[in-house]
Formats: sequence, C-alpha cells, structure tokens
Amino acid sequence: MSKSRNRNLVLLSCGVLCAGGLVLGQSQAGKKGYRTSPAGYSDTPLLPGQKWKVHDIDRPKPRPVTPGAQPGQPPSDAVVLFDGRDLSKWVAEVKGRIEPVAAAWKLENGYMEIAPGSGTLVSKEKFGDAQYHIEWMAPVELAGDSQWRANSGVLIMKRYEIQVLDSYNNPTYADGQAGSIYGQWPPLVNASRKPGEWQTYDLVFEAPRFEGGKLARPAYATLFHNGVVVHNRKEVIGRMAHRVVWTYAPHDAAEPLALQDHDVIVRYRNIWVRRLKGYDE
Ligand code: MG
Repeated sequence: MSKSRNRNLVLLSCGVLCAGGLVLGQSQAGKKGYRTSPAGYSDTPLLPGQKWKVHDIDRPKPRPVTPGAQPGQPPSDAVVLFDGRDLSKWVAEVKGRIEPVAAAWKLENGYMEIAPGSGTLVSKEKFGDAQYHIEWMAPVELAGDSQWRANSGVLIMKRYEIQVLDSYNNPTYADGQAGSIYGQWPPLVNASRKPGEWQTYDLVFEAPRFEGGKLARPAYATLFHNGVVVHNRKEVIGRMAHRVVWTYAPHDAAEPLALQDHDVIVRYRNIWVRRLKGYDE
C-alpha cells in the first residue's frame, strides 16, 4: 500500500471514529461497543502561524448556526433584507437623493420589481466582509439587446458590481455579462438560465482595507451563479465603471448593499446577508 493511500485511510478512520465518538453522545456511554475519543489535546505541536496546537482542547468552538430548511433559505444568523413581504429594509436613491422606497420599486407576488427610472435600491444596514444570497429574474418580455436586456446589478458596498443581465442568448462584452465583476472580470463560465426563470447568486465578498487614506488590501469576490462557481476569490480592481478603469477610493469598513436601476425591468426575491468574522473572533 502506498504511503499516501495509507495516510488517507488513517485520516478516513479518524474522521469516522473521532466524529462518531462525539456524535453518538453521552447518552450512549457505557453501552457495549461504545468507544470514546479525547475531546482535544494539549500535547500536540503548534500550528504554523496560529496560537493553537493541533486538535487544541482549548480552541474556541465555532458558534452554532441553524441552516435554512432548504438550500437558499436564510440560516439563523442571516440578516434578511427581503423576504417577499415588505421593503422596510431599503430606501431608494434617485439622482443622489434618498427617498422612501414605497414610491419606487413595485412589490408583488413575493418579489420586487424595478420600476424603470425609479432609483437604485439601497439597504439601510451596512456590511463589510459578508456572504450574500440574492435571487433575480429577467422578464420574458425583453425590450432590447446586449446591455439593454434585463440589466441591473448587485452593487456590493454600493460600488463593486456583480452584473445582473439576461445572458442566456444575448451576446455582449464578456466583462459585462451576467455574473461578471462589471468591466473587470468575465465569469469563468456562463451559467445563465432562461428569461422567466429565477436565478441565484451566492457571493462571498471580502471588503477592501484602507490605511492612512490608501488601499492596504483590495476586495476579493467568490461567486456561485445558479450553484456554479464563476469567480474563485477574484481580486476586484476597483469600483464599477463603464468604458474606463476606476480604482479604489477610501470608504467605510461597512457600506450598504445596493440594487441597480438600469432603466429596465428586473425582479428580485429572497435576499439575505451574513456578516463574516475571523476564525478567532
Ligand atoms: Mg448593471
């Protein structure tokens, strides 16, 4: 048996036995065949670059989160920005003015729909490093081509755009199609569904860091479009721009999520966000 196969077997058996010992729980203790395993160790080597040892018994345990009952539903620690029932978590920004959202986007049948020209939708809450879940749909009736076909956009921190567009059968420039980091990076593949079908974006966004008025670390985006990875921790070049390159300008550590009004109809539903923290926070 090769060394690596042997190692894999050791890892596999540890995974099954160690986890099994914990999963069965104390109620099973004392039963025939019940086996126990240490809940941690303190005589193991330090992990490189960490303050914890391998399998450290003192390392804080991850806090519990109850997942959504179905894939795509919000976990227990998510901030639900839109559940199909009301727009109370949003305002509208029209030509730089903040206005009540009630006069802007339409709310009907569990989704909200852009009333073209009524303004970008801006969340009242602000987010830094975060996981986003967003569902959107291009209408069946399309009134244009290329960038005039169900154009909207998920504007992370109001600046960094994940493009929303009908890209099922709609040629346009690669860095402007659905799932692109607009004007910068095309998606790795085109995972678009047809107009009239709901689509999902699951995004992990690492906010940029600024120190002394300068960029200390750029933003990174990891995106799944309809469950297909289309960006794998891609470095964001700067804020969204059309036909030019814009880089970074300092902003707050947390900023709102915005949904772009590009003057055409697009629908959204089931939008939630989870704030991300570090391993030891
Ligand atoms: Mg757009």
